[in-house]
Amino acid sequence: MTNKRSRRIKYLSYGLFFYLILALTWWTLLLIVKNNDALNAKVELIKIVAYAQNPDITQEAFMQQANVVKLKSDYTKQRNMIIGEAAVFIVLLFVGIFQINKSFDREVDAANQQRNFLLSITHELKSPLASIKLILQTFMKRTLPKEKKEDLLNSALTETNRLENLVNDLLLSAKLEKAFTPHFEDIPVNMLIEHSVLTLGNSHPNATINLNMPKDDLMLSTDKEGLYTIIKNLIENGIKYNTNKPEINIELKESPKTSLIISDNGIGIPDKDKVNVFKKFYRIGNEDTRKTKGTGLGLYIVKEFVRVLGATIEVEDNTPAGTKFIIEF
Ligand code: ADP
Repeated sequence: MTNKRSRRIKYLSYGLFFYLILALTWWTLLLIVKNNDALNAKVELIKIVAYAQNPDITQEAFMQQANVVKLKSDYTKQRNMIIGEAAVFIVLLFVGIFQINKSFDREVDAANQQRNFLLSITHELKSPLASIKLILQTFMKRTLPKEKKEDLLNSALTETNRLENLVNDLLLSAKLEKAFTPHFEDIPVNMLIEHSVLTLGNSHPNATINLNMPKDDLMLSTDKEGLYTIIKNLIENGIKYNTNKPEINIELKESPKTSLIISDNGIGIPDKDKVNVFKKFYRIGNEDTRKTKGTGLGLYIVKEFVRVLGATIEVEDNTPAGTKFIIEF
């Protein structure tokens, strides 16, 4: 469903809701007025009979008459009933419209997710497969010089790694949703960060990664694999979505809570996308115009790991440019 169409349906439901409230208010007021008219007519009728029987009866004594008192109490009960019914109806209407809108939003989200899945996964699956196929065909057709052979084999290996990463990410995100049990253990976070930075630094020699951590070991009860994946995905994104020479800063703070801040000098994330980037398969911009490779699973996996580790994650603009992710344990 297109965003325009879903917005139109939403506005229509708000319009309908507004009309129902107005109509209900009008009918409630009308009922109260008619009920009041009926009471006055009945009182007038009793008055005629009462004055016929006793012309000297005072207005006060008449109003105290048992049948008049009962009539007035019945009227008050009926009026309260009408107002009560209208209030219950409005509350139910509110809850109903709210629930319908919520599940409608969920449906739209699921449809968008499906669309993003098809767009990005199809591309991420097809292009490495096509490259590998082409390389194999080249090998079959021609006898190649040693250097060319090595080049092609390296490309095939890179594409195979890309496919493997995609499959791993898909499996990991499915596991995180349903069947992941974190293995908590006390680990020195400083060491884990240093180790991650060393590994990632080697595969991204053009990037500078700065560390700012307390000198003493900071122990944290957490899942090693989860924390490593979070750090890896955030650092790799900071390098990937960057048009400058990538510079990543990692800060570890102990108080008031243990927090890990990973910031970059990249292209930044617009405010309107800051919530969406954590959604499954969400990638900023149009799939056809995006130059970077990716699936929109990286930050989703980060968010899911943060959730199972009982931590929180926030994304902010970095100064003077770039993105800053703040994780609190
Ligand atoms: P992928 O990198 O596979 O597209 P992610 O889930 O890691 O998926 O990221 C989702 C989107 O968020 C990316 O497509 C990118 O547009 C944006 N993004 C993520 N990290 C950064 C970053 N550090 N700087 C700028 N944009 C980012």
